[in-house]
Amino acid sequence: MPVMQRGLFLFLSFILLIQQCYAYELVLPREKKTTVSSKYIYFMGKANHSETIDINNIPVYVAPNGAFARSIKLKEGENRVVVRSSYNTQIYKIYKKTLKKSSEEKFVECEPRPALVLKDKTILRSAPKNDGVNIISGLFKDTRVIINGSQGQFYRVFLSADTAGWVAKKDVTEDIPSESVPASFVNMSSQKYKNASVQSISFTQNLPYIVENRDKELVFKVFNPELSENSVYTLNIPKPDKYTYNITLQDGCYTFKVNNLPKTIEECTIVIDAGHGGTEKGAIGCLGDEEKNINLKIALELQQYLKQLGANVILTRECDGNMTLDDRIVLAKNNDADIFISIHLNATGDMDVNIRKNRGTSVYYYNDNSSKLAEILEKTITKSAGTRKDGVKQKGFAVLRPPCYTGVLVEAAYMTNPMDSVLYRSEDFAFNVATGIADGIMEFLAE
Ligand SMILES: [Zn+2]
Repeated sequence: MPVMQRGLFLFLSFILLIQQCYAYELVLPREKKTTVSSKYIYFMGKANHSETIDINNIPVYVAPNGAFARSIKLKEGENRVVVRSSYNTQIYKIYKKTLKKSSEEKFVECEPRPALVLKDKTILRSAPKNDGVNIISGLFKDTRVIINGSQGQFYRVFLSADTAGWVAKKDVTEDIPSESVPASFVNMSSQKYKNASVQSISFTQNLPYIVENRDKELVFKVFNPELSENSVYTLNIPKPDKYTYNITLQDGCYTFKVNNLPKTIEECTIVIDAGHGGTEKGAIGCLGDEEKNINLKIALELQQYLKQLGANVILTRECDGNMTLDDRIVLAKNNDADIFISIHLNATGDMDVNIRKNRGTSVYYYNDNSSKLAEILEKTITKSAGTRKDGVKQKGFAVLRPPCYTGVLVEAAYMTNPMDSVLYRSEDFAFNVATGIADGIMEFLAE
């Protein structure tokens, strides 16, 4: 190669290298060509130094650490999304396919017939769909139910003249052993302890139940619709100020136990659950951070703080390892947890996102006995960590469903939000979130 040409070649290679070093990197979408069914797609990544980013010719906000994100509205068919900076241009082809509207599922009534529940914690719902909160009971294995209709993937369960529920078809069998016959009542009893009230009721078969949360009492109802449509047995236990409750079933005998929550932190067993772990990384941040690591950092800070305050503290994981949701619940139950705090960071997904609004701390609860703690934590965490208030929300996350502890799930900030990324990458974020949680628990117990 002549000297001139060789010089030019080296020069061009150098320019290319510089461009590659300084150009932005996209974390989402993962592929340059992708097919989605959502109305929006989320672009997220890291810019370098003073690089300015345009997506489809509109400038994007870039945080001081280089994090940027924007959701792009999609039209049907192919969408060309051009991401441009002074150093680089990348073209994404996003194909939006039309979702076929699922045909309306009609309710079909049928002759009442018995079925058996296949596994413990089978969800009984108030409607034939999963909307995240419409859970009315967790049925035990071998509960004998009467189904009298179906809609889509659900059977309607007849409970009494004015009560019905819905169970997923896959969760029951109509293949009933011959020894399974309609149940009859055996006996009931009640006991009062210093910190708990216990009532038991026994039948010859496992029957469906629900718990009603009334103003001043918890009402446990067992239904035996095969006897008559008014065959409902109730156990009433006055509701303490702060309480948890537990239901066990053995050989047709239900035990319904309502506990007073301890009044001081020294008497409390608190389970701290760092979300995800191991191969399950959780959400990915604008700069590629993994949620599981931040969750763990917060959990370890919180452990230290709560121990100093005198609480009995148990972590579901103390290092980066895999753990199922069920493992976490079993650990909490086996240790008689009073309070269960699951720690996560949030992600927005492919939706219409306003990065100035969709950020900050949200706290989830499921059972009514946990709503107060959730409200307090939203206040104390945002105050301590400087995050925006993103709301207190009710959702049936598996770890929040057991009523035997006060359970909340903290989404401390959004992994996918550029502004939040500045906070969660800061040195003292884990400590500040942990302080907010500990302060909140103290306030909750003192109320
Ligand atoms: Zn998470």
